[in-house]
Amino acid sequence: MNLGTKLRHAVSSFIFLGLTINATTVLAQRSRPPQRAPRNPGIASIVRQIDARNIERSIRQLAAFGTRNTLSEQNNPKRGIGAARDWLYAEFLKAAEASNGRMTVEKQSYEQAKAQRIPEPTIITNVVATLKGSQPEATDRIYVVSGHYDSMCNSPTDAKCDAPGANDDASGTAAVLEMARVMAKFEFDATIVFMAVAGEEQSLLGSTHFAEQAKQKNWNVDAMFTNDIIGNTLGGNGIRDRGTVRVFSEGVPSNETPPEATTRRSVGGENDSASRQLARFIKETSEAFVPNMKVLMVYRRDRYGRGGDHIPFLERGYPAVRFTEMNEDFRHQHQNVRVENGVQYGDLPEFVDFAYVANVARVNAASLAMLAYAPSRPKSVTIVPRLSDDTELRWEANKEPDLAGYEIVWRDTASPVWTNVKPVGKVTTFTLKGMSKDNFFFGVRAVDNEGNRSPATFPRPMSRNQPSNPAPTSSP
Ligand SMILES: [Zn+2]
Repeated sequence: MNLGTKLRHAVSSFIFLGLTINATTVLAQRSRPPQRAPRNPGIASIVRQIDARNIERSIRQLAAFGTRNTLSEQNNPKRGIGAARDWLYAEFLKAAEASNGRMTVEKQSYEQAKAQRIPEPTIITNVVATLKGSQPEATDRIYVVSGHYDSMCNSPTDAKCDAPGANDDASGTAAVLEMARVMAKFEFDATIVFMAVAGEEQSLLGSTHFAEQAKQKNWNVDAMFTNDIIGNTLGGNGIRDRGTVRVFSEGVPSNETPPEATTRRSVGGENDSASRQLARFIKETSEAFVPNMKVLMVYRRDRYGRGGDHIPFLERGYPAVRFTEMNEDFRHQHQNVRVENGVQYGDLPEFVDFAYVANVARVNAASLAMLAYAPSRPKSVTIVPRLSDDTELRWEANKEPDLAGYEIVWRDTASPVWTNVKPVGKVTTFTLKGMSKDNFFFGVRAVDNEGNRSPATFPRPMSRNQPSNPAPTSSP
């Protein structure tokens, strides 16, 4: 990069920060995100109110149902998945009391036909708490956060064995319940769905049912987070890490079409799916509000060759990511509870770090809150593909009344995170002079009057036979 370009970076950072610092200082800071999320007091308060003691109580209670295998008893009030389902339903109802009627709770049930891990037709129930958004322009925009409340021992079809599932996945379920309890008191523009699903160990059945319903009803699910195995801080590798959470995101969308693949090969973007933008957004937002937690982006849909409840969403075109602890310990996942050669096996509460689960819940909640406070990410963002030293971006106007304007972000093509930002006001087209689209990746994000920011949208090339409206071009 030549000095002129560096100085342009410096100038745009300078404009954003509004600080009197010289260009050398700015250049030294280039590797850091130049855009700190604003100190939204609502988000700070949500982060403060999340309480590890509630999470511990929930995890111990869920483990105390003995097993929560999807094939276990549904009508026993003490043991089995039915007891867990009813307890979760009652807890979400309690959380909803603080919402002034904005949060509704339902059991979403269906009969699953026989399948590989379903020997007999089985009722599968998701417990779904919906906190309706208050802004008419944003209320149909939905953010889903989930954990799975079913569990398993060695065998996914063993309905009788003890399967405490404290980490997999009472941890994720307890985090979602705690988020619902805290966030029900707050009012957001967009809608948030807090969900505990079943049938995950039976091949993602509950989440698939929800995602398919969403698709059929044409819901605008703008992002989905799954929390699965978020409570162990001492890995099987002996490493203790209480300050990092992994966020898995896919680069190439699971539902990419052949024409989209052709475009991607032509202009790049294998690191710029909507899910990858979501991961960047989570890292940037949560590290501003939860500074003691580091978000490690992993450039994979899930762990190596494995799956989770975000996948049915990805397959239907909804951006989604998976949260998981940094170092897993496989002695405490999918294991019959037993002692072997002096080693305790089994997914027991004693191996869960409740304070860490609370921190992962805070990372989730800060990001979800920002998503639901902020305007929608800009739609129909395109780059005008003419041969030019400049880069011209266009997008559709947002409809939210509290929209303040837009920001263009960019980075070198090899950088994992956005490194630069330029506020451009309330416009729907902008030309970056002297910045070649060959050398950078760009994104456009929306900002509201309180400084809440959407994730960035990665532009597609404007098709060549598209009219070059709205902006006049210089061609004769
Ligand atoms: Zn799991």
